[in-house]
Amino acid sequence: MDAKFLTRIKQDYPTLKFTQGKRFSFRAPRTITIGPAEENDSLLLLHELGHALLNHQDFGTDVERLKMERAAWEKARELAPGYRIVFDDNLVENELDSYRDWLNKKSQCPKCHLTRFQTPDGKYHCPKCENFT
Ligand SMILES: [Zn+2]
Ligand SMILES: [Zn+2]
Repeated sequence: MDAKFLTRIKQDYPTLKFTQGKRFSFRAPRTITIGPAEENDSLLLLHELGHALLNHQDFGTDVERLKMERAAWEKARELAPGYRIVFDDNLVENELDSYRDWLNKKSQCPKCHLTRFQTPDGKYHCPKCENFT
C-alpha cells in the first residue's frame, strides 16, 4: 500500500482508529484493522472504510451482513477515484462469493446438514432437530 495513500486516509478521517493486524477488518464503532500488504490492499482498506462510514454494526443476521458487505463495496467504489485507485469488480465478486460460501457452510446444521434459519438475534435454528413442526 502506498504510504501517502494511507496518510491521506488517516488525515481525511481523523476520528477513525487504525491498527495493524492479520487481516483487514472493521470493528464498530470506528476501528479499522489494516492487514498484510497485498495486491489489493488499498481497495480492501477502502472497503473497511466503507463499513465505518456507513456506521455498520457487528451484529445482525447473515443476510443483513451480506447486504452490509455489498454496501461497503459500493462505498469503496465511490471513494476510489478520489484516491486515484482503480476499482476492481472481479475482486468484489470474488470477495462476495467467498463470503456467501462461508455463510452457507455456517448455516448448515452440524447434526443433520439441513440448512438452518437465523433469527434476528443471530442464532441459528434447525427446523428438523429443534422440532419446529
Ligand atoms: Zn466487509
Ligand atoms: Zn438438524
